[in-house]
Amino acid sequence: MEQAPATRVPAKKTAAKKAATKKAAAKKAAAKKAAAKKAAVAKRVPAKKSATATAAAVGGQAAAEAPRVAGKTESHTALVRRARRINRELAEVYPYAHPELDFENPFQLLVATVLSAQTTDLRVNQTTPTLFARYPTPEDLSAANPEEVEEILRPCGFFRAKTKSVTGLSKGLVEQFGGEVPGRLEDLVKLPGVGRKTAFVVLGNAFGRPGITVDTHFQRLVRRWRWTAETDPDKIEAAVGALFPRTDWTDLSHHVIWHGRRICHARKPACGACPIAPLCPAYGEGETDPEKAKKLLKYEKGGFPGQRLKPPQSYLDAGGRPAPPLGAVPGA
Ligand code: SF4
Repeated sequence: MEQAPATRVPAKKTAAKKAATKKAAAKKAAAKKAAAKKAAVAKRVPAKKSATATAAAVGGQAAAEAPRVAGKTESHTALVRRARRINRELAEVYPYAHPELDFENPFQLLVATVLSAQTTDLRVNQTTPTLFARYPTPEDLSAANPEEVEEILRPCGFFRAKTKSVTGLSKGLVEQFGGEVPGRLEDLVKLPGVGRKTAFVVLGNAFGRPGITVDTHFQRLVRRWRWTAETDPDKIEAAVGALFPRTDWTDLSHHVIWHGRRICHARKPACGACPIAPLCPAYGEGETDPEKAKKLLKYEKGGFPGQRLKPPQSYLDAGGRPAPPLGAVPGA
């Protein structure tokens, strides 16, 4: 009987030892599992880059990583997350993104947007100062001599058709809306030559009403990013609109269009200098060599002036340069 305590103590010790070993093994297994999970997440979604790292990548200083997005198997939730993350990254790359047409009021923006078809915003910005100095209101432009307007608009290309469009829409503004640009989509699209794209540019930027601008850059980029497979602009607008809150729509449009103009070009996307390469299923469609890709960058990313002769202060503060007036740069 006396030996009983002596035999109980070692038994207790053995049990405690066993429990400790079990606990350590469990801890090890948990750590192993956590490491595996972390590695899997890192493989799917690379760690978020800082603004500095992102900015450094845009210049080709940091080689773009290989894409890690499996578009085909991506769930809707994952797509929403990736799309919003791309938008956030682009907001860091282009914090000064803005409409690239110079305007001082809704009428000027409406006319400039119509003139921007088949030409660059730069060329429109170089042309409109003369137009608006001579015809500052819808009344003035609707009563203008078409030949004089044609002469002013010649640098924009398709100047006869564009003269008809801007004088026609000015007439529409005078006759239907008392010479004021309406702030509603259903009214704007009643004006001759004004479609949803033009209407959303005006609503988003002159009236502060959210709108998605599905231009050629927007269409190309959202397909590259597999945000949608739609090809019809109205369907693209609906599909992309469903991925973002309405309040993001206007800025989202700027970010996408700015990226399309500066880095993700139609024919030679600069993948090797692209800050969102890790999130892009189309990485590799363009130049992947960082040094070669850097040479493809346009506007301020390539060290050149922007498109606006009068850009917002935020753009100038960030080191952006105003575009030169017409004829100041050969071939501009
Ligand atoms: S295609 Fe290339 S340049 Fe365009 S977003 Fe993807 S990685 Fe960037």
